[in-house]
Amino acid sequence: MITVLMPVYNEGKYIYNNVMKVDSLLIEKGIEHQFLLVDDGSNDNTWDEMCRLASDYPHVSIIRLSRNFGKESALCAGLENAAGDAVVIMDSDLQHPPEYIPEMVRLWREEGYNVVEGVKEDRGKESLGSKLAALLFYRTFRRTTGIDIGVASDFKLMDRSAVEAWKKLPERNIFFRGLSAWVGFKRCTLPFKVAPRAGGDTKWTFSALVRLAINSITAYTAAPLFIVFWLGVLMGIGAVILGIQTLYNYFAHQSVPGFSTVILLLLFIGSAIMISLSIIGLYIAKIYDEVKARPRYIIMSKKGNAFFEQ
Ligand code: UDP
Ligand code: MG
Repeated sequence: MITVLMPVYNEGKYIYNNVMKVDSLLIEKGIEHQFLLVDDGSNDNTWDEMCRLASDYPHVSIIRLSRNFGKESALCAGLENAAGDAVVIMDSDLQHPPEYIPEMVRLWREEGYNVVEGVKEDRGKESLGSKLAALLFYRTFRRTTGIDIGVASDFKLMDRSAVEAWKKLPERNIFFRGLSAWVGFKRCTLPFKVAPRAGGDTKWTFSALVRLAINSITAYTAAPLFIVFWLGVLMGIGAVILGIQTLYNYFAHQSVPGFSTVILLLLFIGSAIMISLSIIGLYIAKIYDEVKARPRYIIMSKKGNAFFEQ
């Protein structure tokens, strides 16, 4: 039995049809399945549509979060409640083509993989800006954390053992792609072509993406702290050189009112302090988040019978 897990945010118009599409495909391939849909605090008719699905089909279970917690949290809520022997995670806009699910299931069942990762063969239709931003992000992530999630996506199959291991990770700031790679297990990749959106628009805003990028890098590594360190070293060398020059001028009785030096120093030190403080601040914010130990999400209502017994 597999659970198909979809985070859903403001997809009211399409969610019913999208789920039906996946359903008929899986039935046709004879794959025993159930659906778990997580409404991430949508403000359109998504929840009504999901209720309609759940009452029309007993194998559709639904969860509603009390507000928009973000896709990563919606996935948490889903994974912690999914009952299947394996969980297939996919976008509800069908940009992760359901045609690949049977192959994922085959790799899990017949070849014994615990995790089957969907990797993007190409990124589909995207603006040059977002392609560049993605490239920059994945480069930085690999360089700083040593974990290569290059073409990874959230489209994947995780079996019970991988899900259980993943559920034990306690942190609040999560980046699903990174954490599901971190747990390890026997894994393989399955290339897929990103499909065009089945209606509607992307739910990501630029600032949400920047937040996700910063969160995911600081959640994995303290490398940005080393930038401050090297900046400090660089400034130290500069200070020694300038210091020697100033002393030399002083003893050679050449000391002139060195306004430019003072201003330069002020600028340098000022900006270095600013950068350092902001980086330290980021980590303090993270510590703050973790010690608060808030729940990652809050469930408002739950319907259906496909839940994991807790
Ligand atoms: N999503 C979500 N919460 C959010 C934003 C998005 O649950 O705050 C869901 C959305 O419904 C979809 C998936 O995450 O199933 C991917 O979102 P989207 O298609 O907007 O992102 P893109 O494909 O453009 O990266
Ligand atoms: Mg999408």
